[in-house]
Amino acid sequence: MGAGKAGECRIENEALRTVVRRIFAAAGSSERECGLVAEHLVEANLRGHDSHGVGMLPAYIANALTGECRLNAAPTVVTDLGALMVVEADRGLGQTIAHDAVAMAVAKAKTQGACIMALRNSHHIGRIGHWSEQCVRAGLVSIHFVNVISTPAVAPFGGRGARVGTNPISIGLPRPGRDPFVVDFATSRLAVGKVRVAYNKGVDLPEGVLLDGAGEPTTDPAALFEEPLGALRTFGEHKGWALSFACDLLAGALAGGATQKGPKNRDAIINNMFSIVVSPEAMGTSAAYAREIEAYAEWVTAPPAGREPSVLLPGEPERATRADRLANKVPVDTNTWEQILAAGESVGVARAETGRIAGLA
Ligand code: NAD
Repeated sequence: MGAGKAGECRIENEALRTVVRRIFAAAGSSERECGLVAEHLVEANLRGHDSHGVGMLPAYIANALTGECRLNAAPTVVTDLGALMVVEADRGLGQTIAHDAVAMAVAKAKTQGACIMALRNSHHIGRIGHWSEQCVRAGLVSIHFVNVISTPAVAPFGGRGARVGTNPISIGLPRPGRDPFVVDFATSRLAVGKVRVAYNKGVDLPEGVLLDGAGEPTTDPAALFEEPLGALRTFGEHKGWALSFACDLLAGALAGGATQKGPKNRDAIINNMFSIVVSPEAMGTSAAYAREIEAYAEWVTAPPAGREPSVLLPGEPERATRADRLANKVPVDTNTWEQILAAGESVGVARAETGRIAGLA
C-alpha cells in the first residue's frame, strides 16, 4: 500500500522558509511573493497542518511551469459596492491573491464595519485559517466558506463515489490581549493533503474515513492516489455533507466562480472563497464581546472539581504544535522532501543547494 514507508527529516523553520523562497524565486516569483508563499506554507507546517505546508510546493511549482498557476498575479476587483466585493483571481498563486483580497476586505471592514468578499478562480489558497488569522490581527471577526475545484475527492453522504472537494470552513475570533480562537477544518473526515501525507509515509488511515474505488470502506490512503480512485467521506455524517454543499454554492456559485461538476479537467487546483469580515468595534459591542468570550471560555473549559482540565478551544492544538516545532524543528517525511528536491531541480535549483539551505547536506 501507499508510496512506501518513508523516513523523516527535521528542518529548522527559517531554513525551510529559505528553501521555499529560493525555489519560488527560481520559478520567477517576486521577492514579495516568495515571502508570502514561504510564510504561508511554513506556518501551516508549524501549526501541524503538514497537508497544507511545504508538501504543496511541488504542485504549485508544476502548475506555475505549465501556466496553470500564474505567479506575481494581482486580484482584479470586478464588483465594489463598499461593503460588498467580488474579486477575480484568474488562477493567480493563491498565497498572494488571497492575501491581497483579504487585505482589501480588512481595510473595508475597518472603515465600514463589515465587508462581504467573494474571491473566485484563485489557485489553491492553502490553509484557510491563515486568512482568519489575517483578519484577527486587525481585530476583526471573520467567516470563510471555500470550495475546491480539482479531482473530486469526497463522496456526498449516502453516495459511493467522489463528487465534490474537501470544501473547508474557517472562523476567526480575535481575543483582545490573548491568542485568538481559530476554527479551521475541511468538511471531509480528513483534508486530501493529510491522506497524501499518510500515503507518502506509507501508513494506514483510521476506519470510517475512506471508500475504495468500488465504494467500499478502506483504510488504505492509496484509494485517493491510485486507480480505481475512491473517496473521502464527509465528517459528521449528513451534517458535514450539508456544510460541504453550502460551501460549493456560496463560494462557487454565488461568487460567480464554479461548483465542482465532473472530473478534473485541468491541473490547476482552484479555490473560491466567500468571506464575511466584521468589526466588533464598529458594532459597538467590542467591550461586551471581549468580556463575554473570556467568561464563556472559562466556563466551557472548567473541569469538574478534582479533575484535570481536558477541554481544548479551537486554535489551541495548533499553538501547542507551533511551540513544539519552533523548538524541535519541522518534520518533513522523506517522500515529500524528495518531491521538493525534484521541484527545485525543475526550476534550476540543484538538489545539493536545496539540501544545503535546509541544513541537511
Ligand atoms: P482538523 O481536522 O485538524 O481540525 C482543525 C480544527 O479543529 C482547528 O480549528 C483546531 O484548532 C480544531 N481542533 C482540533 N482539535 C481540537 C480539540 N480537541 N478541541 C477543540 N478544537 C480542536 O483540520 P482538517 O480538516 O484536517 O484541515 C486541515 C487544514 O486543511 C485546514 O487548515 C484547512 O483550511 C485546510 N484545507 C484547505 C483546503 C483548500 O482547498 N485550500 C481544503 C481542505 C482543507
